[in-house]
Amino acid sequence: MSEPILFTDLALSEPVLKAIQAVGYEAPSPIQAAAIPVLLQGGDILGMAQTGTGKTAAFALPLLSKLDLSQNDPQILVLAPTRELAIQVAEAFQKYASELPGFHVLPIYGGQDMTSQLRQLKRGVHVVVGTPGRVMDHLRRGSLNLNNLKSLVLDEADEMLRMGFIDDVEWILEHTPATRQTALFSATMPREIRKVCDNYLRDAKEIKIASTQSTGDNIEQVYWMVSGTNKLDALTRILEVEPFDGMIIFVRTKTATVELAEKLEARGYSASALNGDMNQQLRERAIDRLKTGKLDIVIATDVAARGIDVERVSHVVNYDIPYDSEAYVHRIGRTGRAGRSGKAILFVAPREKRLLYTIEKATKKPITLMELPSGATVTKHRIDQFTQQITDTLKEQADLSFFNDLLAEYSHANDVSPEEIASALAFLLQRERPLQVKFTDIKPERERRDRDDRGGRDRDDRGGRDGGRDRGPREDRPRRERNDENMDRYRIEVGRNHEARPGDIVGAIANEAGIESRFIGHIKLHDEFSTVDLPTGISKDTLAKLKKVRVRNRPLEISLDTGPRGGDDYPGRGKPKRDFGPREGGRDGGGYRDGGRDKPRFNDRDNASKKSGYRPKKSD
Ligand code: AMP
Repeated sequence: MSEPILFTDLALSEPVLKAIQAVGYEAPSPIQAAAIPVLLQGGDILGMAQTGTGKTAAFALPLLSKLDLSQNDPQILVLAPTRELAIQVAEAFQKYASELPGFHVLPIYGGQDMTSQLRQLKRGVHVVVGTPGRVMDHLRRGSLNLNNLKSLVLDEADEMLRMGFIDDVEWILEHTPATRQTALFSATMPREIRKVCDNYLRDAKEIKIASTQSTGDNIEQVYWMVSGTNKLDALTRILEVEPFDGMIIFVRTKTATVELAEKLEARGYSASALNGDMNQQLRERAIDRLKTGKLDIVIATDVAARGIDVERVSHVVNYDIPYDSEAYVHRIGRTGRAGRSGKAILFVAPREKRLLYTIEKATKKPITLMELPSGATVTKHRIDQFTQQITDTLKEQADLSFFNDLLAEYSHANDVSPEEIASALAFLLQRERPLQVKFTDIKPERERRDRDDRGGRDRDDRGGRDGGRDRGPREDRPRRERNDENMDRYRIEVGRNHEARPGDIVGAIANEAGIESRFIGHIKLHDEFSTVDLPTGISKDTLAKLKKVRVRNRPLEISLDTGPRGGDDYPGRGKPKRDFGPREGGRDGGGYRDGGRDKPRFNDRDNASKKSGYRPKKSD
């Protein structure tokens, strides 16, 4: 691998560099190294990148570097498909702007109190991160002034397309100054997104980080899907039962190397950090200690671990997923040295699942799902170690006569059996590290599903290679099954006659109620109304909110479906069944509107002609 580019090579502003330093990033990720120079120079980019590649910083760092703090009208607008992503991106901006006094970023999304958004917009913000519906809403009201907008970012553009927002995105693009700089990020490049790029980006530099890499056959590759248990607990369980010699654990930041090393040391492992803040001598010393067995675990960043060649490294743990397949291959190549076999363990958060597939595809090797060791497994392991200790002591300790006499005397004086004495001693010995281990922190599947239900961002990534449509071979993602009894049927007062499309309805409900789109069940369009199956237990507040949400400029007026009403077109249906077939027509690309388009602020191009015309195939 060539010498890494450093953040300081990238002409970022001083305060931004300082903030990066504070966050602990050591070197730019590939997408950052490629995108930052272009964005700093004012160019457009088309970045094919998914969550986990560092794409947020790839646009936030250069745009913040160019920010004029004295100007209080929004200079940067980021459009994101979901409120969760909008919040995350806003938080990232805040983090990278920690050294910019008076900096303001505002996330705006549906379902959030309008008054507070209006107040903050009035007060002045530098960056707005919003979902398309709410951004349109503010543009129409005149509460969002984009006259001085310098840069526009479309984040997860393919998700916005999938959720039916593409018309809205184009409408917003039309309502921003033509002089703006545009950056579009998308994990996939469907035709419709390509069209947006052709129409709205200027000489965009295409950045695609993909490479085919090969990995040795002598390395067993497994992954653990982060859920229920936190990563540290998972790691310690693995450390308990995996027979390892030397181990390198990869994390993303320098800070994390130190923190994790301290935590592992506190748990009794001989571990040390290895990062770019350490001078050459210290780094060499750590590697030397690993080589000679004085140290078993090294927690490293990619940069610091470059070229480490230590034969006794039997395991590599990717505690934080690498940015791309190249880094992955480099990392796992630290094991399986000199013809030995090695094992690589990868932790994957649900939203990073896509990156896992990319790595698998690039390396052309399957990475298999591993189960975390259970309480029973760890217990068995500890008992084995314990009994082995007894055996070893009996074998190796030449003279135990002092203890024999002592205990014989105790046994006689107190009338207790040798077994009872041994049990008491065993109990004392294992008090610090109990032999019987119970893990209670793994949440039952049902509970996890409910929690995931609320985290919209996970939705897209858990959804497989194509964000949920193309399920791919792994079916371990939670998913509403057909015949799932935990659904209620609701009626909404928009239907075919109002030109509503399932995509509009999914987009509206997903964003306004915070229900992940994959949990939105069957949608049946009728002429004057529609029905939609939603998970049971939706709160009154959410329903009240949903009542007012508009699709095709009509409020949903959602209510529990109680069967046909006078004049309804319920052909051949009595009481609604709970059938959970696939959504009618799939999710199509209709535009969910949370208000009319009657008050354009800028040069509102003929909206009718601007319908994207996107009609995905059923399999889309
Ligand atoms: P993203 O792909 O934008 O969702 O970022 C994924 C994660 O990588 C986030 O937790 C970031 O904080 C982290 N990250 C981004 N850039 C870097 C970097 N250069 N070094 C270390 N971590 C980073």
